[in-house]
Amino acid sequence: MVPISVDKFVNETVKNNKDVNRKEIKKNILAAVERKKKGAGCIQCDQPIWALGSGVTGIDMCFSCTTGEADQSEDYEIDVVCYNR
Ligand SMILES: [Zn+2]
Repeated sequence: MVPISVDKFVNETVKNNKDVNRKEIKKNILAAVERKKKGAGCIQCDQPIWALGSGVTGIDMCFSCTTGEADQSEDYEIDVVCYNR
């Protein structure tokens, strides 16, 4: 995956989605990052969760289960827990 910092992702998201609450989304993503650090697994397949996606959706799932796609090479993950640098 492509590493991105929380702040950079939040900035881009807020820029593109005017109704997103910056504080709220950052808090949710950081919480998902912490869960991933502790080894949280996808609720469907038990793979490591996609912290960025799980923070946005509020559901702990891996990239494939969240997006339905196998190819994650061009998608972002928060840098501190990016497992495929
Ligand atoms: Zn999964």
